[in-house]
Amino acid sequence: MPKSAGQPGHGPVSGHAAAAAAGGSDAIRLQLRSWPEVEAYLQRCRGVIVPLGSTEQHGPTGAIGTDALTAEAVALEVGRRTGVLVTPTQAFGMAEHHLGFAGTVSLQPSTLMAVLHDVVLSLARHGFERVYVINGHGGNIATGKAAFAQAYSTAAARGLPVAPRLRCKLANWFMAPPVMAKARELYGAREGHHATPSEIALTLHLEPSLIGKQRPLPEPAPPGPIHGPEDFRRRHPDGRMGSDPYLAQAEHGQTLLELAAAALAADLQSFLADDDPG
Ligand SMILES: [Zn+2]
Repeated sequence: MPKSAGQPGHGPVSGHAAAAAAGGSDAIRLQLRSWPEVEAYLQRCRGVIVPLGSTEQHGPTGAIGTDALTAEAVALEVGRRTGVLVTPTQAFGMAEHHLGFAGTVSLQPSTLMAVLHDVVLSLARHGFERVYVINGHGGNIATGKAAFAQAYSTAAARGLPVAPRLRCKLANWFMAPPVMAKARELYGAREGHHATPSEIALTLHLEPSLIGKQRPLPEPAPPGPIHGPEDFRRRHPDGRMGSDPYLAQAEHGQTLLELAAAALAADLQSFLADDDPG
């Protein structure tokens, strides 16, 4: 779609990124902005980042908040690098299959879909046209994409001016190719599928108090299909799926954060610049 005269671009102008950098990391946190500041931001940029996590067991030593902590950290770093606003983190995700373990808090798929739908519609109403969801949990992927389809439909039905230009994208930081390559290099097959050393390493970097919880663990149950919380706990009694989180180190986490932020910042820039992204 050609830009019409006076139509603000989706992307931050260079001065904006510089202003965000000058204001420090807080400059890109929606929580710390006033509404006139957001209105002014929308004159320069129509993009926004939404961190999406989960609150669920991560094996016998990993933090319950792993997926929310990691998604938020990557989102804030991507925001710092691009000058794009970051909303508060949606820390509850779709974690029904982890409910057999204490501390897990899950939204049903239909609830998470409604939450993400309403977040997108709220942002779209103000003129945000590019919603970039940085996700930390594989269990959110199917529901997130369904929520976007619903949001497009509602935006059109409500006749929102941005409806024809509204685009949402789910970016899974742990699946960024440079992150997956580094995880393979560091951990090989012991990366596993849940409570992975790569995500645990990032939490150790972010929260040094977690380092003291690290201890050697017995051989994990191998990954495999699961059918609900009881089946999960029966097949994976300590919550891990083929992973060895004891391999995680805080320095690895710092490197993985850097790789994830660089990959997603580039992806976000092309998402913002493309007037007709697929
Ligand atoms: Zn996780």
